Amino acid sequence: MNEIIKIKGLRKVYRMGKEKVVALNSIDLSINKGEICCILGTSGSGKSTLLNMVAGLEKPTRGEIIIKGKHIEKMNEKQVTKFRQENVGFVFQSYNLLTSLTAIENVAMPLIFGGCSKRKRNKMAGKILKDVGLGDRLHHKPSEMSGGQQQRVSIARAFVHSPEIVFADEPTGNLDTKTTMEVLKMIVDMAKEKNQTLIIVTHDPETCIFADKVIHVRDGDVQKIEVKDEIAGRNKVETTNS
Ligand code: ADP
Ligand code: MG
Repeated sequence: MNEIIKIKGLRKVYRMGKEKVVALNSIDLSINKGEICCILGTSGSGKSTLLNMVAGLEKPTRGEIIIKGKHIEKMNEKQVTKFRQENVGFVFQSYNLLTSLTAIENVAMPLIFGGCSKRKRNKMAGKILKDVGLGDRLHHKPSEMSGGQQQRVSIARAFVHSPEIVFADEPTGNLDTKTTMEVLKMIVDMAKEKNQTLIIVTHDPETCIFADKVIHVRDGDVQKIEVKDEIAGRNKVETTNS
């Protein structure tokens, strides 16, 4: 298997004055290239902490994070920023769009670091916004769009520079049920089209229906890992029972 992410003995302890919070105890996992992977767990189980470590946004207390053969935990700030810009896209629960910029300006942002011309950036941003169904909202600001539309802008921003890995932290957490499925399917389809690796963090088992692998996290540890057939089987059982 073509492994793109490998995590070994990952631990994160936060210190709050004299208190210690063990957010991650000891996590081991591996994710293959092109895999659609869900990290599933209840609130406080350590999902966001895990994602932040893997994305190099925070340093672990202990353990190894190897992405494309490179040790993320050993990189300095500058190296990790460059690595993220070149390899990673993000979708957040609260969209994290820049409020003063239009849709097309937000989406063009990740391309600035790649050094392409403004003309090319706008062309690429415009095209991907059309792909997510927002061709008629290019010059709208976030406040002039619905939650579902803002999340589609943020999906376009995550994918515009064709990163090998896309992280999504509770991407549908602020959306209604219908929009949730639309947005979810859009992220999954975009990732599949270019064989990108997608990691979705969620507390909602229904969000995992498109996943190749579900990593269940509980109290900072991996509780179990389900692969595609088991996920399908579980959904089947649930449907038959209901
Ligand atoms: P999840 O995303 O699964 O809801 P988190 O990863 O955000 O969980 O949090 C896991 C645990 O770590 C929780 O108990 C949380 O309170 C704690 N935690 C997260 N971030 C911090 C922080 N910056 N400082 C102290 N404790 C934190
Ligand atoms: Mg979280």
